[in-house]
Amino acid sequence: MALKLLMNAFQLLLAAAAGFCLVSCAVPSSPGGRSAGRSEYGHRPGPQGFHTVILDAGHGGRDTGATSPWTRQYEKDAAMDTVRRIRQELGSGFQVILMRDGDYFIELDDRVSRANAHPGAILVSMHYNYGGTKTRGPETFYWRMDSYSLAKRIQRELSAAVPSQNGNRGLVRRRIRLTRNPEIPCVLVEGGYLSQVSESRLIADAGYRQRLAKAIAKGIRDQAAYGDAGMGPLPPPINAPMSRPADARE
Ligand SMILES: [Zn+2]
Repeated sequence: MALKLLMNAFQLLLAAAAGFCLVSCAVPSSPGGRSAGRSEYGHRPGPQGFHTVILDAGHGGRDTGATSPWTRQYEKDAAMDTVRRIRQELGSGFQVILMRDGDYFIELDDRVSRANAHPGAILVSMHYNYGGTKTRGPETFYWRMDSYSLAKRIQRELSAAVPSQNGNRGLVRRRIRLTRNPEIPCVLVEGGYLSQVSESRLIADAGYRQRLAKAIAKGIRDQAAYGDAGMGPLPPPINAPMSRPADARE
């Protein structure tokens, strides 16, 4: 009897140790630690079944982002409004966290650490673009393998939602802080060009922003439901260092 009790206690200890390892081994390494491991961040399939969505309205406060020369609209305001619409479109099936919920600035690296506080979530950063007066159309940036399908789903929905003359600039694989550094799947959406006259007039229209929000929310919902299924082969993983402010665009 005593031996059996001892055995049970030993088994409990083993189970506890295994449980501890499961938990601790799943915790991402802290910034600065285990740099080799961190270079491989995102080398995994895309997420499925997630419940938490972090929506990041780009810029804010003193950082207005781009300004439309045609409507004088600030990118930071259009992004904030669109993010609130995405939250509304996602409905109660998700826990939605807004990176900022007002007109203030958060440093990019702080946005990354705030996102990292929610393992198991995904991050969508919302922006509007600026370029030549002829360039137009939405585009979605991703860098990591685990963010590819989410980006592709969002971009596919956006291209179906915008007028055909606006075009579809497609997916762009680019290593920037918000597509490389967070420890959760992360994409950055450029909803269209504030520098292009007709597109900027559309972006100034609440109904149009609602359409964009609806498209983005559908991409997010589909990713949660289906993961990478039907999205074709995933892009090869790339071992690249963390993105720094001084990096050249790539
Ligand atoms: Zn921006």
